[in-house]
Amino acid sequence: MKRATRADLLDVTEAPPGGSTSPHGVRFRPDHWLLVDGARIAGALPGDQPPGDDWQRVDHRGRLLMPGFVDTHVHCPQLDVIASYGANLLDWLNTFTFPAERRFADPHVAKAGAALFLDALLAHGTTTAVVFPTVHKVSAEALFEAAAARGMRLVTGKVLMDRHAPDGLRDDVAGAEADCRALIERWHGRGRSGYAVTPRFAATSTPAQLAMAGRLLADTPGAWMQTHVAENRAEVAWIAELFPEARSYLDVYARHGLLTDRAVLAHGIWLDDADRALLAATGAHIAFCPSSNLFLGSGLFGWRAARDAGVAVSMASDVGGGTSLSMLRTLADGYKVQAMAGNRLTAWALLHAATRGAAQALRLDGEIGCLEPGAMADVCLWDIAVGPVAQRRDALARELHERLFAWVTLGDERNLAETWVGGVRRYQRPTSPSA
Ligand SMILES: [Zn+2]
Repeated sequence: MKRATRADLLDVTEAPPGGSTSPHGVRFRPDHWLLVDGARIAGALPGDQPPGDDWQRVDHRGRLLMPGFVDTHVHCPQLDVIASYGANLLDWLNTFTFPAERRFADPHVAKAGAALFLDALLAHGTTTAVVFPTVHKVSAEALFEAAAARGMRLVTGKVLMDRHAPDGLRDDVAGAEADCRALIERWHGRGRSGYAVTPRFAATSTPAQLAMAGRLLADTPGAWMQTHVAENRAEVAWIAELFPEARSYLDVYARHGLLTDRAVLAHGIWLDDADRALLAATGAHIAFCPSSNLFLGSGLFGWRAARDAGVAVSMASDVGGGTSLSMLRTLADGYKVQAMAGNRLTAWALLHAATRGAAQALRLDGEIGCLEPGAMADVCLWDIAVGPVAQRRDALARELHERLFAWVTLGDERNLAETWVGGVRRYQRPTSPSA
């Protein structure tokens, strides 16, 4: 199938310089055809030079066509506890999250939960995600199956938790290793699936389990590692008690061989210079979760310090600690969190972190997060302005950054018209919103 879509094409070709609203590193091609041959992007043509009759042509003039967003840290089972009142991280886990996660031991619940979750990601414009299921093997299996059915690039893996978790949510070292190895055998590198070794966080794994996780990572070329680090001060103090020999929370992971150039560490709010140097040296990166950090009152992530140390930063919703699967809302919160520290992020920097920057940090550059020929056609069509306020603002915008910054700040999933994954339409807005 050869398909050409006429729209305003936008992608980020290189990391934009900090603070500049000039579109350096940003490729904006107004009124162009994006050519998709099968699952992959084949190229682009100016609007007045349509491809030949062997191409199916679809006209979305006036809409923005972008790579699908990449959400580098989100929890499938936590849709059930999104927007839960009144708790900091450790209370929130015990009061809301763990009971919800226990239900995913049931294969029917896991299967229905995975389908709901992935369809919701697509309906928010996210085409790739790095996902926490639960401790249950069946919950990871259900996610891999549901992603394969949708042709989605998905990185996930069974959560490792052998202590400090309630009954029904603990594994043990030998059982966890057997489950992980079976999942890796079946899913890692199959189609678009990739395995992530997934210790929940240092407190919920024994040193023996963390060591096992390090062995799994070493034995599995191309595997990712996902976990949490330095999210909340009480958590950081607890980790220091549990691992007195470690220099820092992050060092616990380093000591167990878990910091690789495919490691995704959520939060990283309470890090020091030595931690940042370690991240930069290993190529591990931070998933910045601004909505979750605000909602749980965890703290304000120091993006500028990370950038200055050479640490890559991607963007993540962290639902259910976060309050929306929308990466636009996540970016808008990211802007506000950084504004508190006097660090003004441009729309370009935000969009880079949620598309190409994330792809680079995940070692998937050229495959996702861009509109380059050869990349997978994981793309979204957006209305820049929905509703009278946004439309008025858009009509008054004088240049591209102003328009797109307003889109990032005011937009959400209601702006999304269509989502395509591997050249197949997987989401279409049911009805046009009233303008
Ligand atoms: Zn999380």
